[in-house]
Amino acid sequence: MKKTKGKKPQVFITELSEREKQLQEIDRIAKMLVRRDFELAETREKREKELQELKGKTKELEGSRTALMNMLDDVEEARKALTNILEDVEEARGKAEEEKEKTLAIITNFTDGLLVFDEKGSLSLINPSAEDFFDVKSRDIVGRSILELSTFPTLTSLAALFGEEIKGVFRKELPIKENLTLEVSTVPMVSGEEKLGTLVVLHDITREKMIEKMKTEFVSLAAHQLRTPLSAIKWTLRMLLDGDLGKITKEQNDFLEKTYRSNERMIVLINDLLDVTRIEEGRYLYKPVLTDIEPIVQFVTNSYEEEIEKKKIKFEFKKPEEKLPKIKLDVEKIRLAIDNLLDNAIRYTPTYGKIMVILKHRKGGIEFSVKDTGVGIPKDQQGRVFTKFFRGANVMRMATEGTGLGLFITKNIIEAHGGKIWFESEEGKGATFYFAIPIKEEFGEFLKEF
Ligand code: ADP
Repeated sequence: MKKTKGKKPQVFITELSEREKQLQEIDRIAKMLVRRDFELAETREKREKELQELKGKTKELEGSRTALMNMLDDVEEARKALTNILEDVEEARGKAEEEKEKTLAIITNFTDGLLVFDEKGSLSLINPSAEDFFDVKSRDIVGRSILELSTFPTLTSLAALFGEEIKGVFRKELPIKENLTLEVSTVPMVSGEEKLGTLVVLHDITREKMIEKMKTEFVSLAAHQLRTPLSAIKWTLRMLLDGDLGKITKEQNDFLEKTYRSNERMIVLINDLLDVTRIEEGRYLYKPVLTDIEPIVQFVTNSYEEEIEKKKIKFEFKKPEEKLPKIKLDVEKIRLAIDNLLDNAIRYTPTYGKIMVILKHRKGGIEFSVKDTGVGIPKDQQGRVFTKFFRGANVMRMATEGTGLGLFITKNIIEAHGGKIWFESEEGKGATFYFAIPIKEEFGEFLKEF
């Protein structure tokens, strides 16, 4: 028993430990498997997550791709639009080029001379007509200032007309040489607010001047020729009327009176025509003397006393409050000017009208005015009042006498005294004619010529 007892436990223990070992191993493996399983689960979860992320990214990429495609579409559209614009620009450029060529062709072939100055006052273009007028070549003068141009002998007078800064000139006559007179006008070239320069237009008026001269000479000659027989008629009629050639009947007297008045009108017309031709030829001589204007006005108004009374006109001569300074006047011519104005006022004012003559001291000069309550001058004709042979449509209907030369002569007389003349009028209400003469030693441009 002892032997069995002693041997059997030993085997049992060994077996047990062996089993235990196996169990432990199994347990270890089981644990390892559990852990691996756990790890696997974790990895799977991670992969799942990564997969989801990848899916998200793919979606995003898909979105970006679509956006990119859209952008590409937009870019393509923009490209097309740009191409269209470029085509339009090209077309516009072509048209502009064409227009430029046309303008250049017009400028080149224009019979008027043309000069273009840039905004700094340098010459930028001259056309062939202008080159001919001034006997210059474009290459010698383009790019030069007015001051530099004035050193060219043929351009001196033009440069003097402009001054250094090209002042505005409108229809100024410029004699260039024996057989060439130009009419010069400047046109400012502006684009919106911007000043681009000045265009100078030179129109050849040599022919017009020649015709004008011939016409003046003809009128002058005819008027001179007519004056002598008219004077002879006047004195013969006077003798008949005065009974120097025998007694005449009342009827004969009436007829002769009418003829005498008609002849007088003809003499007035001839004298007016002669005055006009003298003005036009620059021969309207002035003899200025330092004198008082008031007695001259008084003299003229006195000479109309009878006429004023006959027409029952309320007349007033408003004299200056203080004595006016003496001024240089050509007495005869100023008398004629005042006479013309007063004569018109009386003639174009119906009976019972009012006329007021005012003489006053004003702004370094003397101002004369004659205001009437007559027929006035129609608005649409007022711009022509001082031109030769102008007669208002309203006065023509009245069948009053007149030559239409009085105001032209008067204007020339006043301007030759360095003064100016103007008027205000409303048809049917009356008219006021004014003139002002400055008190100065020198006379106007016209007078200095003599
Ligand atoms: P005339 O009186 O000989 O016709 P003028 O040259 O003196 O010539 O005047 C020209 C025209 O101006 C006149 O015919 C008339 O139509 C108009 N006129 C001048 N003065 C007056 C005035 N005071 N009232 C109305 N019209 C006038």
